[in-house]
Amino acid sequence: MRRLALWFTVAEDRQKRDLDVPLWLVQDRTGRFIPVGVEHAACVRITPAGDSPCPIIAQVLVPATVVGQVVLNGQELPEGTHFLRHADLVELGDDPFWVAVDCDPDETVYDSAVHPAEWTCGLAGTVLCPGDSLVICPGTAVATCGALYRRDAWESARKTLKSFHCPLCGYTPGRGHWAPPAPPSARSLPRLFQVVTRASRRHDMESRVKP
Ligand SMILES: [Zn+2]
Repeated sequence: MRRLALWFTVAEDRQKRDLDVPLWLVQDRTGRFIPVGVEHAACVRITPAGDSPCPIIAQVLVPATVVGQVVLNGQELPEGTHFLRHADLVELGDDPFWVAVDCDPDETVYDSAVHPAEWTCGLAGTVLCPGDSLVICPGTAVATCGALYRRDAWESARKTLKSFHCPLCGYTPGRGHWAPPAPPSARSLPRLFQVVTRASRRHDMESRVKP
C-alpha cells in the first residue's frame, strides 16, 4: 500500500502525519503553522493528488493572505494551486513541512474475480491459482507497481538474495519509508564549543611547559 505522509516539527520534535486526507495548515497564536484536519478559512491547504499520475503526489493551495510566506524547494509560491512530489519541502514562514510517500507491500489471497487472470509470478515462474497467498508490490516513491508475486517466492527471494528488489519497478523491501534530512542539532554546537575550548586549554598548557 502507498500512503502519503506529512513531516513537520513541533517544539523541536519531528512528527509524521497521514496525508491521505486533506490537511489545513493554520497559524497559531505564536505565528507558527500547525496542521489541522478540518476546513479552515484563509490558510494553506495540502490535498492528496488522487488520480493524478506519479510523480505528482499532492497539491498545495496558497491563498492570497499568505503569499510571500510559502516557499516550495526554495522557490516562493504565488497564489494558487501547486503540485507536490515525493520529498518536496514546503516552508511556511519558518516552519518546514515535507510531503513523502511510504510504500509497504500488501498481502492477500489470489482471487481470479479480483486479480488479473493468467498472471505468472515473476519470481516463481508459475501461473497464480485461486487460494495462493500473494504479495502485491506497492511500487516506489515515483512509480506505482501492483505486480503480484507468490508470497513464498517473495519471502524466499527476500531472504536469500542480497539486493532483492521487484524486477518490474525496483521496489526494495525495507526501503519503502522516507524521512527528512536531519536538522542541524542544537546540542552539537555546545558540544563542539566544549571540544574547541578543551583543545585550546591543552594547547595553552603545553605552550607554558615548553622551555
Ligand atoms: Zn514492483
